[in-house]
Amino acid sequence: LKTTSSILYLDGVSVSFDGFKALNSLSFVVEPGELRAIIGPNGAGKTTMMDIITGKTRPDEGIVYFNGEVDLTQKDEAEIAQLGIGRKFQKPTVFESHTVWDNIELALNRKRGVFATLFYKLTPEDKARIEEILETVRMTARKDDLAANLSHGQKQWLEIGMLLAQEPKLLLVDEPVAGMTDAETAETAVLLKEIAKTRSVVVVEHDMGFIRDLGVKVTCLAEGSVLAEGSIDFVSSDPKVIENYLGR
Ligand code: ADP
Repeated sequence: LKTTSSILYLDGVSVSFDGFKALNSLSFVVEPGELRAIIGPNGAGKTTMMDIITGKTRPDEGIVYFNGEVDLTQKDEAEIAQLGIGRKFQKPTVFESHTVWDNIELALNRKRGVFATLFYKLTPEDKARIEEILETVRMTARKDDLAANLSHGQKQWLEIGMLLAQEPKLLLVDEPVAGMTDAETAETAVLLKEIAKTRSVVVVEHDMGFIRDLGVKVTCLAEGSVLAEGSIDFVSSDPKVIENYLGR
């Protein structure tokens, strides 16, 4: 195994489904504290890439280095989550019949392996951490409300808060602003930038206004490999990106 200072390093990752190469010798690097945006047409391999990182799918070839030198391709999903990778799927999955606070508390306890919250008394440090997470995800004023009563965008933020309670070193976020209002979308860019001050974040999105707001390095995938990588201005003016994605 190589030793690297990167939090995530996919080295020549390939995977095929029924002979179709969903990822084709993909290489991808994320540094500690980096916020990276991923764009690309449908079928480019974005979801497959997240599946490989989180251990849901095993690559046919290649290595995934995490946090220096751990090879994730040798770990299962639970081990990878435990190592510090959190994944937010597109659809929010919060506990609707619980309050915002309880949702975060449940997530905090899940990290400890305490399933019966009833029997676990929160320490002052736990409470302070929950308050801090609520503040980060703009939920302080809503902490006693049922999750069911939140807007779609607020549910997305709450779920990000639940993931933060697991203290991931790397957070993968799939299309967070789909279905959000313009104000929520703009706020999500600020929120993710704040989160990336204490961990690495990889966000997959189609909303180019949002990507522009993030102002971070962008990776455009197509046909299972990196088509272009760099600033949004650099990537969006690349003729290959225009042909394969933006111009469609
Ligand atoms: P994206 O997320 O960029 O839209 P995906 O990673 O979902 O792309 O898909 C890449 C390609 O791999 C697509 O052609 C898709 O149909 C195929 N694919 C993904 N997962 C599977 C699977 N489990 N079985 C068969 N084909 C799959």
